[in-house]
Formats: sequence, C-alpha cells, structure tokens
Amino acid sequence: MDDCIFCDILAGQAEASFVAGDERVVAFADILPIGEGHTLVIPRRHAIGLHDLDPEDGAAMFRLGQRIAAAQRRLGLAEGVNLFLADGVVAGQEVFHAHLHVLPRQDGDALTLSVDYAPAPSRDALDTTAARLRDALEHTGG
Ligand code: 5GP
Ligand code: ZN
Repeated sequence: MDDCIFCDILAGQAEASFVAGDERVVAFADILPIGEGHTLVIPRRHAIGLHDLDPEDGAAMFRLGQRIAAAQRRLGLAEGVNLFLADGVVAGQEVFHAHLHVLPRQDGDALTLSVDYAPAPSRDALDTTAARLRDALEHTGG
C-alpha cells in the first residue's frame, strides 16, 4: 500500500525495533511509547481497520498481543496491560494500517482513560439496544 508507514516498515523501507512476528502479524516498538515496552501488533496484509481486517489476522493480532502482555509483566515493565485498537478518526486512529497497542501500565503512569458518563440507561433501553445489535449481527452473518 502506497503512503503507509507500517507497510514501509514491513517492506524494510523504514526502521523499526522488531519484537516478534509470524506469517500473519508483526510486532514492533511504538516510536512514541506511553511507557517502556509499548508495542504495536500489525497484520502483514494491509488493512485500514476492523471493516477490512481479515478475522484470522485479527485473531493472530490478539494472540500475539496476549503473549507480549505476558512478557511485559514478566520483565516488570507492566503491573497491568491495556490492549487498545483505534478504529476510525473519532476513535483516535492516526495511522491507517490496523494496529493493536499493547500498553504496559504502571501505577501513576502518564496514560489516562476518562469517561464522562451519562446517567445509566434503563433495563428496557439496554434490552432494546441489545435486540437491535442481535438483529444486525444476524443480517451480517456475524
Ligand atoms: P493510533 O493513534 O493510530 O492508534 O496510533 C498510532 C501509533 O503509531 C502511535 O502510538 C505512534 O506513536 C505510532 N507511530 C506512528 N508512526 C510510527 C512509526 O513510524 N514507527 C513506529 N514504530 N510507530 C509509529
Ligand atoms: Zn499498510
């Protein structure tokens, strides 16, 4: 894919500090880490986001992310871990080659995830939304 920094990394045309890889996915250090060990896992096959990501590549991304999280903990780089994938601009995506962040978390680190919650919805509202999603899943073969 033209103009994709992660495809350039995969092609050896841009630098990266590699952590692991297999036939489907590659992991390397984030260039601007939230903490030591912050790693990105990407599919070898270019996909922009969840809509065009091969589900088997997605499964491989999660599998490798889980192993990297365990390694971060073993090394003492993480007391906890967030797995994070930004799908779309509004979700914070800045690089449009799908990637899973494996975020090593330490007490008092620089990352904050904050939510300004609306009042909790009623059970009826939750049921209605769940039914809409069930229906949508049925009609997409999901
Ligand atoms: P996003 O906001 O799209 O989920 O995150 C993109 C991530 O890619 C950021 O954390 C950013 O630091 C990282 N990144 C951007 N360009 C490069 C690069 O050229 N090399 C590496 N290793 N990471 C990059
Ligand atoms: Zn790409």
